[in-house]
Formats: sequence, C-alpha cells, structure tokens
Amino acid sequence: MSRSYNITLLPGDGIGPEVIAESVKVLDAVSEKAGFSLNYTEQNAGGAAIDAHSDPMPDSVVETCKKSDAVLLGAVGGPKWDELTGAMRPESGLLKIRKELGAFANLRPVTVPESLAENSPLRPETVAGLDLFTVRELTGGIYFGEPRGTEGEGDEKKSWNTMVYSVAEIKRVARVAFEWARKRRNKVTSVDKANVLDVSRLWRDTVIELHAAEYSDVELDHLYIDNAAMQMVVNPRQFDVILTGNIFGDILSDASATLGGSLGLLPSASVGGPVGIFEPVHGSAPDIAGQGKANPFAMILSAAMMLDTLNESDAANAIRAGVDKVLADGYRSGDLWKEGNTLASTTELGDLVKDAA
Ligand code: ATP
Ligand code: MG
Repeated sequence: MSRSYNITLLPGDGIGPEVIAESVKVLDAVSEKAGFSLNYTEQNAGGAAIDAHSDPMPDSVVETCKKSDAVLLGAVGGPKWDELTGAMRPESGLLKIRKELGAFANLRPVTVPESLAENSPLRPETVAGLDLFTVRELTGGIYFGEPRGTEGEGDEKKSWNTMVYSVAEIKRVARVAFEWARKRRNKVTSVDKANVLDVSRLWRDTVIELHAAEYSDVELDHLYIDNAAMQMVVNPRQFDVILTGNIFGDILSDASATLGGSLGLLPSASVGGPVGIFEPVHGSAPDIAGQGKANPFAMILSAAMMLDTLNESDAANAIRAGVDKVLADGYRSGDLWKEGNTLASTTELGDLVKDAA
C-alpha cells in the first residue's frame, strides 16, 4: 500500500485562495516524486463560510477537519465582514477550529536566507542565515487563566488576570519543543520569568525534570523573557528552538517575525491534537487580494511543515530547498522586491518552486 493522506483545505478569504492554490501545486509535485498521495477536501472558512452558511466555522467543516490527517488554512477576514461581532467574526472561526482540534502548541519558524538579509530591519550580517523556531503554548497561561475580572468604580476599579500552568500542560508543550530540536540543531532555549513568577518557577523546574528524564541528548538553556527579547535583537542566530508560554511567545514570536523583513515568508503550525493546522503568519491582505501580487512562500512553507508532521521529511525539505533556490535566483513578489530582482506573480512563484523542488 502506498502512503496516502487526507487533507482539508480551508482557503478562506482575501489572498487565502490564491496562496492555497500555489501550495497545492507544489505539494502535488513533491508528493508524486516522493511516492505518496494527498487527497484534498475543500471547505469554506471565515468570511467565505459566513457568506455561504452564516457561520465562520460550521460544525460540518469541523467534522471534516477532524476526519482528515491535516488542515491547510489560507487566511480569514476582510473589510466585508468588519462590522460583524462576537462569534460571527471570521477570526472566531479560527479560534473555534484550533480549540476543536486541541492545538495547544503554535510553531513559528523564522529563516532569513543570505539572499534576503538586506531586507531585514537589523544589519544584514546579524541575520544572514538565521534559522530559529518558536514553540509557543497556545491554549493556557494568562490568556485563559481563572480567576479573571474587573470590579469597583473610579480610582478603586481593579482588573486582574491569572497566569496558570499545570505540570501536564508544561510537559506536553515542552515535549513538542524537544522533539523539534532533535529534528533540527538539537538545542532548546526555554524562556520564562522564573526570578519573579511562581508559575514560571514551575515552568522551569518542569522543563528541567522532563529534560533529565527523557531528552538529556538535547542541549537546554533558560533565559528570562527580558533577556530573551534583547538577545532576539542583538544575536538572534544563537537560537535553535525557543520554548515558551502563551504571552511571552506571543510577544517574542512577533519580534522574531520582523527579522526577515516580510510577513509573506513566514509559515506556522498549530499542533498538539491528532490533526494539525498549517497556515501562514500573515492575514488575508485585502489590499492586494485578487491581483496576483501575494507572496505564496509563507503558505508553501506551511505546507512543508505539514509534511514534516506527516513524517514526509524528504518532500518537506525539497519544498524548502525549492523556495531557497527561487529566492537565490532573484525572483521576488512585490513585498520583497528590490533593484536587481525579477518581479514575479503569485502563480509564477508557485511554478518556479514546483520546478525547483
Ligand atoms: P489580519 O488581521 O488578518 O492578521 P493584518 O491586517 O494584520 O491582517 P495582513 O493581512 O497580514 O495583516 O497584511 C499586512 C500587510 O502585509 C498588508 O499590507 C499586506 O498586503 C501585506 N502582506 C501580508 N501577507 C502578504 C503576502 N503573502 N504577500 C505580500 N504581502 C503581504
Ligand atoms: Mg494581523
């Protein structure tokens, strides 16, 4: 029996459908070469699902996702749905599917190939060749902890949130980080605020214990969040895998995302449950939708992460090598274009990667 996977496609809104189409093009080429097959089921999500079913993430779509091996998501939202509130917002569809699929770990790799170092807000020599990977806990911590609330009036009015992590929550996300480190350069930097916060002390102790028990082959160090933020700007190349909680990860992964100079290059994955969701870091970019201007690389690289998770690493690496080659050859979408580059459309870039992968 040859290997075969069921993939749910959620193209969504704006440039979502355009970049999904390019990722499917590339996936079909590498899977054929590597000898496995991908069966796609396409469903509406976000604004497209609101228009079709008055619901940004209908239960029938959730069921389809649960039955598949992975979900590829383009982007959701746009000005057409800006007036909607609460559960009717396109973005709430995204939160629903992450929750339904138990996606407790958000993975964000950031790479800066030599050919793009000039686009960085940092000095090119600080970022050239950068290759780091953030594992952010996604369903716990201060964003979800109880108690939370507001009470009182005037100057006596108070609000509070609570950062809570259990040992089980810390261990399961730390495992994700250690496993990815083994596939990469074998180093984890755990980021916390253990000098001030009890919950961070538990975080650090738990990571140390898990490391000693199961992952002592992986290099492990610890940074306080303030120091980590500084190191991200001063010497980001020291990092391989960064492991951190929900709020620190939110901040740190956005900081790392700016290092390469464009959102159009950054893939992400939300994993942990039986089915992972793979989507670009960027949004639906309504300002350039439908014009063939979107950079498809973030989506194509998200598809490569999907293949990693399905243990089809050769095909995943072929995709990444293809993207690197197209960039090294000087082809760029508008977000990255500089004097001397060749401007290419969304579909041209997809074709080039397909041929190079
Ligand atoms: P969201 O709220 O959905 O995250 P946003 O307004 O924060 O959306 P994006 O949709 O990601 O942000 O777009 C931010 C800017 O980056 C826009 O000007 C957009 O055109 C540009 N951009 C985003 N993704 C791409 C891409 N793949 N290719 C080219 N430009 C992009
Ligand atoms: Mg945004």
